[in-house]
Amino acid sequence: MSNHQIAKGTQCIWGGEEEYLIQGATQVPVVHSVGFGYKDVDEWQQVALGQKPGHIYGRNTNPTVDAFEEKTRLLEGGEAATSASTGMGIISSTLFALLTPGKRVVSVKDTYGGTNVIFTEFLTRFNIDVTLCDTTDHEQIEAEISKGCDLVYLESPTNPTTKVVNIALLANAAHEVGATVVVDNTFATPINQNPLALGADLVLHSATKFLGGHADALGGVICGRKDLIDQIYHYREINGATLHPMAAYLLLRGMKTLELRIRQQNDNAMKVATFLEGHPAVGRVFYPGLSSHSGHDIASEQMHGYGGMLSFMLKEDSFDAVRRFVPRMNYAHAAANLGAVETTIGPPATTSHVECTPEQRAAMGIPEGLIRYSTGIENVSDLIGDLEQALSIFS
Ligand SMILES: *Cc1c(COP(=O)(O)O)cnc(C)c1O
Repeated sequence: MSNHQIAKGTQCIWGGEEEYLIQGATQVPVVHSVGFGYKDVDEWQQVALGQKPGHIYGRNTNPTVDAFEEKTRLLEGGEAATSASTGMGIISSTLFALLTPGKRVVSVKDTYGGTNVIFTEFLTRFNIDVTLCDTTDHEQIEAEISKGCDLVYLESPTNPTTKVVNIALLANAAHEVGATVVVDNTFATPINQNPLALGADLVLHSATKFLGGHADALGGVICGRKDLIDQIYHYREINGATLHPMAAYLLLRGMKTLELRIRQQNDNAMKVATFLEGHPAVGRVFYPGLSSHSGHDIASEQMHGYGGMLSFMLKEDSFDAVRRFVPRMNYAHAAANLGAVETTIGPPATTSHVECTPEQRAAMGIPEGLIRYSTGIENVSDLIGDLEQALSIFS
């Protein structure tokens, strides 16, 4: 495909596929083969040594998986990309590939629950110094970075209260001390935010969420500087958290409509958030698109759209209120996943922060009466009507 800059919506459909469309196929084939054979042993050896492109063994690389990595790489504008079986697979591979005993990581308290467990439970076992700052206290984060560190790990907007961190500002501070900057871009998607363009060295996704968009395949992907991607790939090929070719195919197919879906989800979420903010049974609404949101200005600067994720507090701030409200919803799965075409809701106590105690959640500023709302692509008047009837139990 020619190199000229094409729009993201077109890239979603055509990007990265050409090389894999064999024998006139218009869709990337699912290559289930575990081994890749060579009659010429010299050629086999050249491929095995990385002197020639090709595939050797399915744990390492696979053509369908390659096409998925390539499409994501093009959308994020990275030099290279690699993938893993899940979002956590790529996050753990990244952290364990890039960190060794004695190194220091600066991150924030509001990272995804699983990422937080890696920071607090696993990295500390290997004498890696982890400092978790208040997510929106940029002065504190900058001060911790400038003390010296090796890796800065950010996420924006965060799960579930959609806090926003200033990626360009912190990437700049990190580079001044020679640290590598990693950003989890799952909530924003490459359509709404491109951390590499803001100065990050690596951008990663739980492809399980918006990239796939249909809640039928798990996957993780990371894009950015080739020297770093090579290290992450090397760790992942050995730890074995390889993306399955069938999952890669489903993710690729989902990504064809990524831009279309995100446009609708951005739109729906803004309307739903505005409706909720005006409802008497609802307390605070957390959505970066609302001018009442503390990170609204930064979001407006660094994002092209505010995304499909929001959360809100029931005025009756208790888990019991959540228990009564959730089953009333007709057009929202009460489920742990997010980013799908269907609207999904759930309280942090059963989703993103299930690993934490109520006290830990309170310390993180996550109220028990909070509902995370992942906006689908349904007709927004039906979504608002559904919320209206479900919230009527509180009047
Ligand atoms: C879901 C999620 C992850 C983990 O991804 P899995 O595919 O479930 O392993 C990481 N980061 C964010 C922001 C997520 O929402």
